[in-house]
Amino acid sequence: MKPITAANVRAFAAHLQGKYKAPIIDQSSPLIHVLEALLELMGLDAIEGSVSKWLSKWSISLRRFVYLCFVPGGRKIPLALQVGILVHEYTHIRRQKKDRRFFVRYIFRSSFRCKYEVEAIKAQMEILHLLGRELTPEVAVGTLKAYGLTRADRSVALKQLRYYHTHIVERGRMAQAVAKVARDWWAD
Ligand SMILES: [Zn+2]
Repeated sequence: MKPITAANVRAFAAHLQGKYKAPIIDQSSPLIHVLEALLELMGLDAIEGSVSKWLSKWSISLRRFVYLCFVPGGRKIPLALQVGILVHEYTHIRRQKKDRRFFVRYIFRSSFRCKYEVEAIKAQMEILHLLGRELTPEVAVGTLKAYGLTRADRSVALKQLRYYHTHIVERGRMAQAVAKVARDWWAD
């Protein structure tokens, strides 16, 4: 297994960008204005008080790009957690390539957004377990408030993720495609 160093996290981020052909953007990208408008449309700016505050705390993937609230390999958040977030976001990218309705559903339908988040969190839990860092369903679902999921959606998500954590993650199994890609890359 490769050590989780800043250089390896950067290389892993580059690997995912190449494999899924979706670039990582930050606040300096011209696309950021499109993203800001979408966040307002989703009402997410109100959750954190402003769009810029939201962007400083959270990551999101729409269309063919991944917005990260941190620089891969940087010091803002622990490196293992960065790997987890990368796997989460590229699970969204992979789903968008398979499901052409993703974009509209993710933006406008909280219940669909919930479904897509559950999938991405499953992948994130799997890779973090492999790296010896557990992401509990409770902590994961806590983050979904920032993505505008209703209390009812979050309780559905919690139930599904608890089941998945017990029966798949804790047993060291892996079922999510991007988590497997990550496992193979880090094991190499
Ligand atoms: Zn997500």
